[in-house]
Amino acid sequence: MELTRRREIMAMLREREWTLDELARNFVVSKKVIINDLEHIARSVPRPTRLQIHPPTCESCGFRFKDRAKFNDPSRCPRCKN
Ligand SMILES: [Zn+2]
Repeated sequence: MELTRRREIMAMLREREWTLDELARNFVVSKKVIINDLEHIARSVPRPTRLQIHPPTCESCGFRFKDRAKFNDPSRCPRCKN
């Protein structure tokens, strides 16, 4: 089950960029589960493969959390403090 999902996520990320929200919704799991999967995937994929995970974005002001540790889902926006 987990392995199947990780393989699917990997395939999806090769197609285009996905946000954590989209992936979580697609697999009907929590974002925490997706983050965990992404960490496993990142460790197992060969280096040249680029995972197109969309940077988290603030829902209020649209600020992009580019400098955040890769797969975190930030709760607070540094710009508008939302
Ligand atoms: Zn913001």
